[in-house]
Amino acid sequence: MAERRFTLAARTGAAFALRKGERLRVINSHGTQVVDTWAFASPGAFASPGAFASPGAFASSGEYLSLEHCREVLQKLFFETGDLLLTNLYRPILTVTQDTSPGRHDTLIAACSRLMYERAGRGPDHANCADNLAGALAAHGLRPAVTPSPWNLFMQAPVEPGGHIDFVRPLAKPGDYVELRAEMDCLLAFSACPDDVYPTNGGDGTPRDVEIHLI
Ligand SMILES: [Zn+2]
Repeated sequence: MAERRFTLAARTGAAFALRKGERLRVINSHGTQVVDTWAFASPGAFASPGAFASPGAFASSGEYLSLEHCREVLQKLFFETGDLLLTNLYRPILTVTQDTSPGRHDTLIAACSRLMYERAGRGPDHANCADNLAGALAAHGLRPAVTPSPWNLFMQAPVEPGGHIDFVRPLAKPGDYVELRAEMDCLLAFSACPDDVYPTNGGDGTPRDVEIHLI
């Protein structure tokens, strides 16, 4: 596949179809930006073809990257180079093939949503990762019934010994990237997180664009 490069603008989402074996890089152009990441199995990749009759059904009730299953099988909170990531059906969907950042990408925190920003006093119209995912999937004719837990690339939410979760700014340098390889035909979706409530998008709380390269 010829390399294809996309800029994911600050506060927006997009989804990319990958065939098994293809790779993609998520590049933190400014070093400060968190990228919520999801992966959904393509209809043809289902263990029981035909179980999901319509394209929309697979996103609403199908198979997707499940952080809960990954944490169980990998026995770790933070995924790193070489890790095989699994779906909610325990099937490999992605491999982490490279990570030039300091890692420790959050696996615990839900995608930001309209409700999160309303709770924070930001009003009902704040851009958010949950709506970005829905829009990105809609562009592929898909409709999620729920928002799976995102793998929050570059997000630093360290867990202290007593169990407290902190929120700190990303540790990435400009140009750091995470490279993923598809282990089945799948749809990868990303949101350049619009969060300006927590310090997750850098000390100035300013969402910025990132690069997605299909290689
Ligand atoms: Zn977000």
